[in-house]
Amino acid sequence: MKALRFISNIFCPPKCIFCGKLLGVDSYYNHCDKCMTDLKIKNERICEVCGRPIDVPRGDLMCFTCINERYDFNRNIAPFLYKGAVKEAILTMKFNANQQWIAYSFGEILAQHIKELYGDIEFDGIVYVPISKKRYEKRGYNQAEIIAKSLGKVLGIPVLKDTLIKFKDTPKQSTLSATKRRENVRGSYKTGKTDVTDKVLLLIDDVLTTGSTMSECAKMLTKAGALLVYGATVAVTEGWDKKWRLKGKRLKITKRSMI
Ligand SMILES: [Zn+2]
Ligand SMILES: [Zn+2]
Repeated sequence: MKALRFISNIFCPPKCIFCGKLLGVDSYYNHCDKCMTDLKIKNERICEVCGRPIDVPRGDLMCFTCINERYDFNRNIAPFLYKGAVKEAILTMKFNANQQWIAYSFGEILAQHIKELYGDIEFDGIVYVPISKKRYEKRGYNQAEIIAKSLGKVLGIPVLKDTLIKFKDTPKQSTLSATKRRENVRGSYKTGKTDVTDKVLLLIDDVLTTGSTMSECAKMLTKAGALLVYGATVAVTEGWDKKWRLKGKRLKITKRSMI
């Protein structure tokens, strides 16, 4: 594998997916050390539910966004915040068919993050958030599928085929508000022929925003008999902690928040 990468690097010199810097031919990854240090979420205080950094000065294990939310996945982790160079790389990978290699590189990064944070979990299989047939035909690929296959290879975990199907072609999530996103995905996914009974699954997507897509997919998998569904995304959007802190507002903890 490493020898193959070396040969391919000679003919196609690797470059950093974030800053575009050319890397050495002996480089295994497609990112430079500086970008990784600068961009990666520090693991000291991350939300145990969504993977966002916790910015508020409280001792909670959950971020302010998750306190009032209920998800059907067990937990999500993400190495990056969806902004700056990370956002640019994700958008490039998503909307340029000739840049699919970025998804492959993200898969390798995510594999390392999964090893760090989910190291003690034994996954039976990897599944990914699907796109509708119509969108697949238009785009020609699903970036979440490429990421899943890439990290599956690194981790030695099988990517399960025909597990989740998006049977409704709904409007793009990025164009909708949080409430509309929830309504938009409800009833859009179903499970396929693969038996997931009693399986511990790793669910992959590119970005976690409100968590509604991942939650809906996890709900379908659980309904079909999956034991546990853990999420992993390349990035997570900034949550309420950060927004409130930037506005200089004091956090108001409601009774429901304390449950
Ligand atoms: Zn870089
Ligand atoms: Zn959270």
